[in-house]
Amino acid sequence: MLKFEIFEHLKDEKVKEAVRVQSLIVKILRDYLHEKGFSEILPVVISRVTDPLSEVKNSVSFEIYGQYYQLTKSMIFHKRMALYSLDKIFTFSPNVRIEEEKKSSTRRHLVEFVQLDLEMRNARMEDVMRIAEDMLCYLFDRLKEEAKDELSYFGRELPELKTPFPVYEFEEVYSRYGEDYENILSTNSTHPLWVVHFPETRREFYYKTIPGTNKMADFDLLYPYGYGEAISGGEREDNKDNVIRKLKDKDADYLKDFYLKLLDAGVPPSSGFGIGIERLTMFVCGLDHIIYTKLFPKLPVKEVQFI
Ligand code: AMP
Ligand code: MG
Repeated sequence: MLKFEIFEHLKDEKVKEAVRVQSLIVKILRDYLHEKGFSEILPVVISRVTDPLSEVKNSVSFEIYGQYYQLTKSMIFHKRMALYSLDKIFTFSPNVRIEEEKKSSTRRHLVEFVQLDLEMRNARMEDVMRIAEDMLCYLFDRLKEEAKDELSYFGRELPELKTPFPVYEFEEVYSRYGEDYENILSTNSTHPLWVVHFPETRREFYYKTIPGTNKMADFDLLYPYGYGEAISGGEREDNKDNVIRKLKDKDADYLKDFYLKLLDAGVPPSSGFGIGIERLTMFVCGLDHIIYTKLFPKLPVKEVQFI
């Protein structure tokens, strides 16, 4: 059973060092994206539309002023709408996801976490994959200098990254390793790697289906050494028939109407991705549990009262 006492946690040296590294990570990622011409937008915390995330069964929703709102599960739709005004945007977005309790055994699922979410007008999936690679190289290079003391506290040496990162087709790794492909690939690798082109049935409707196939123009980045998924992203669906077909059996009329309106209003084609900041901190520090990456963690468990 998980032991957690908030005041002990707050005084834990490991937590302190991890949070210092995280603070540098956020600063360096901001520097990188500003240098590349991205604008930071402020996060949206409540909204009438958020990520449907079929894997996360429950949402936090409530009524105010006679309207139903949800807590943000991801800013996917707001990122895309921001492109009516701006070409390249990013945000540090707090996400609340009522993960199933069994997810607590992964040691990398929080109920409340922060995603660096970015989106780029007229970009293809390869364009944002190159940005992710370049951003991680820039981050690791700077951390090696600027977080020297903290990294040596953790006895951590960051891997030397080589670009472009290796790419694996989902179909190929799934037929080889089955449902556990992500763990197996991540555990057996010493370098981050991409898995690309997931089938429609495994992903949310807003990823673009490649015409004439049931595959999507999308990707995950996996960390090496068993740290699992780092990033999800891809190109965005802009074909109305595909949207209607993919949402057909989903009890999602409101979302469908909203997304069709977004397309009618001429939203530009785009690609983007999201990278979880706590998991990135966990990987950088070589931690065996995500709990150490937050002063005020919340895990999907019943037995502990979090603050
Ligand atoms: P997703 O939209 O589910 O692909 O999430 C994007 C990224 O956010 C993932 O690749 C992870 O880095 C991170 N992430 C997703 N869910 C969680 C969670 N429950 N706790 C911590 N990080 C998460
Ligand atoms: Mg994902």
